[in-house]
Amino acid sequence: EGVVVAIDGPSGSGKSSTAKGVATARGLWYLDTGAMYRAMTWWMQHHRIDVDDAAAVAEAAGRPDITMGTDPAAPTVHVDGRDVAREIRTQEVTAKVSAVSAVPAVRERLVDEQRGTIAQARRRAGGIVVEGRDITTIVAPDASVKIYLTASAEARAHRRSGEVQGSDVAAIQADLARRDLLDSSREDSPLTQTAEALELETTGLGLDEVVAIVVALIDR
Ligand code: C5P
Repeated sequence: EGVVVAIDGPSGSGKSSTAKGVATARGLWYLDTGAMYRAMTWWMQHHRIDVDDAAAVAEAAGRPDITMGTDPAAPTVHVDGRDVAREIRTQEVTAKVSAVSAVPAVRERLVDEQRGTIAQARRRAGGIVVEGRDITTIVAPDASVKIYLTASAEARAHRRSGEVQGSDVAAIQADLARRDLLDSSREDSPLTQTAEALELETTGLGLDEVVAIVVALIDR
């Protein structure tokens, strides 16, 4: 049976780089669940659905076809056949993804698909590295390795500012704090649940060091 590595943590904690690095090092599939919530949000906005109307979002949640490419060297996101890799990273999507993610029908659907991808990876590949907010607690509580990545607010904002063009660090830090609050104030919030995940504080560490620690945990 394949290995499942579950990585949770707040925005900017280094989840994506770490998860891709570990998947590449081990030849595993890679799944970015945040990109799935972003793709759902993009589709709602594209179809002029009021994303602040939870009932409207719930009703539409089953409509988009969301397809994730699981190669860590070239992960892809398609919605109804359209490549939305760039669109899902815009401010417009980022501003509303927490609201869409809070709708139970959205979570039920996407968690189901994430579990399906994990099952496929177990059968067809050596396994998978999955990153998100509720992977260690809800999506894959039986994962072989469960990690909660953290970093200081400053370090997280600096990392994010390197990814967003023409951004200023203070504004990014404020936006990360806003999203963390929204994501963690949800009644069923994965960020406030306790899992038997290993907490890894990455503030002073380089990406290679973090990846090496996680890979060592797989072998443990
Ligand atoms: O990881 P990323 O910052 O791209 O995630 C975007 C948003 O998607 C998060 O702020 C959160 O609202 C939502 N999300 C979630 N559950 C996950 C992954 C992401 O609710 N497993």
